[in-house]
Amino acid sequence: MKKPFSGSASEKFLDTLAQSGTAQGDYFALSQGRVVYGAGSDLADKLVWQRRAKRKMITQGMILNLIKVAEKKEAHERVKAYWNTYHCQEKFFGSDGRVYGRYCKNRFCTVCCCIRKADIINRYLPEINTWEDPHFVTLTVKAVRASKLDLWLFGIKKAFRQIREKCKKNNQRGLGPKLIGIKSLECNFNPVSKTYNPHLHLIVPNAEIAKILTDEWLKKWTRKYTSPRAQHQRRVQCVERDLVELIKYGSKIFTEPDLNKKAGGKIPRMVYAAALDTIFSAMKPYRLFERFGFNLPKQPGYTQQAPTLLQQYDEWIFEPSLHDWHNPDTGELLTGFRPTPQLQWILAQSIDTDLQ
Ligand SMILES: [Zn+2]
Repeated sequence: MKKPFSGSASEKFLDTLAQSGTAQGDYFALSQGRVVYGAGSDLADKLVWQRRAKRKMITQGMILNLIKVAEKKEAHERVKAYWNTYHCQEKFFGSDGRVYGRYCKNRFCTVCCCIRKADIINRYLPEINTWEDPHFVTLTVKAVRASKLDLWLFGIKKAFRQIREKCKKNNQRGLGPKLIGIKSLECNFNPVSKTYNPHLHLIVPNAEIAKILTDEWLKKWTRKYTSPRAQHQRRVQCVERDLVELIKYGSKIFTEPDLNKKAGGKIPRMVYAAALDTIFSAMKPYRLFERFGFNLPKQPGYTQQAPTLLQQYDEWIFEPSLHDWHNPDTGELLTGFRPTPQLQWILAQSIDTDLQ
């Protein structure tokens, strides 16, 4: 039976993740039962859960290799964080059609990122829908080697801040619009040239801001470090689709081994674990997603999400060999997810831990 301690839990599970640094999505044992935090996740939609099992499988496959890479580099903090992600949502406590677990909230966890992504979309979509003529902008610099990635990410942050400051002054003098938008920092790896492409994706309210940003970006970097052809701006046709495109959360996990040979999906994609570790490490000091020039309505505080005492509950444990959570008492599987042979093959055979 589910018995709230006090107050009622928020209806939205997604809110739990928005409250970073709080005890949301956690649990501990008491003699009378199990105390869980957050509203838990609804078990009703099997498909949602099968997708989650898939992401859990991908994350674990990737993380074990990231751990190997980080251990080799003696990056102990990162090894710890990777293990934390490996164990993310490993155990659930189920009661009354909901399950409660512990979330790592790390940016390299595809399970947590997906939930966070949904949360960002929920919160930003209503605001962006009010913008007159949203534009999607991509700002890039030249591809760089792993050893220089830190420096370039710092440069990107600085350049963007300087552009904002300049536009703010212009706006105060009545010489330009207020700079408003959302932006995300992303970096992909090119396995052929062994380089990294740090870049910004933005959605801004109109073509004028899109143009100002692109022009200022080019002025800042000059042709030596970027080119006009590598910057893009276009009208947003579907806000939701472009929001999904914008919030990739850092980097793609699967990479085509040769970007020049687009073979219509015939060449199996690869996971370049060493390159991903380089990206995660270099991006650590930076926010991946940010808004600028506007605020959102206030979120409810985490104190509204009361702890709940579960007196009767099922335990579900993720079993990597089954790609699913199972109930050790009954042997029952939670989702029934079955990975395709291709996915199994990629995770078993297509993870490269050297190239970077
Ligand atoms: Zn996680």
